Amino acid sequence: MRRRLIVGNWKMHKTATEAAVLVRRLSDLVSEPGQVEVVIAPPFTALHAAARALPASPSFALAAQNLHWEDEGPFTGEVSAPMLKDLGCRYVILGHSERRQLFGEDDEGIQRKIRASLRHGLRPILCVGESLSDHKKGRTETVVTGQLRKGLDGISKDEIRLVTIAYEPVWAIGTGQAASPAQAGAVHETLRGALAKSWGAGAGEQVRILYGGSVTAENAGEFLASSRIDGALVGGACLDPQSFATIIAVAQKTAR
Ligand code: PEP
Repeated sequence: MRRRLIVGNWKMHKTATEAAVLVRRLSDLVSEPGQVEVVIAPPFTALHAAARALPASPSFALAAQNLHWEDEGPFTGEVSAPMLKDLGCRYVILGHSERRQLFGEDDEGIQRKIRASLRHGLRPILCVGESLSDHKKGRTETVVTGQLRKGLDGISKDEIRLVTIAYEPVWAIGTGQAASPAQAGAVHETLRGALAKSWGAGAGEQVRILYGGSVTAENAGEFLASSRIDGALVGGACLDPQSFATIIAVAQKTAR
């Protein structure tokens, strides 16, 4: 059975000092997430402070929002997988649409990052999602399965079990216009089918697929009630500890 996973993507918000305060508030509200795994992804500069403030429970984990595929070298401004591992990260978000759109990341580079993360025991959360224009043209399935196959090209059957997929329609991110649970569920089914086709039924069954895009404390229940949706990648709402704690509580209630 796939364990429920709730990930908070802080994007470029919070200093290290503010991060420690936010994590402490969250841990006051969520003493033990139990059946649910809770992951927070602060900016690089706040990872250390967040790690120190995070409760010492395997149910809470830290993620980075990006990495460079090389372990070290002349790459000014970049951060590598061994550096993140050393800070206590368990996960890394890769291929977020903001990185694809604003920083020119392509599937080939994302694939190199996925390989680097797995080489160092960091679990990648690969984001896939269609633009509004592709959505309107009915190209959603083609786009997301293409991103999935290219991003995960060359990943072994053993490694695929460590990967999480986040379906994040670009038009739903930060817009307040979430996909409908039925539409998200249908795309999740397509993605699971693509995983099974490339890596076998067993592996396809084990990979967790999250929904992301304007998830809030109010609508989380509609997504998490679906057996096809294993959790949520939450942006804006994760910066408010009360809202994020409510989303975690909803995941606990719907845990299978
Ligand atoms: C995200 O950044 O991955 C995201 C889903 O943002 P939001 O929840 O704000 O739409």
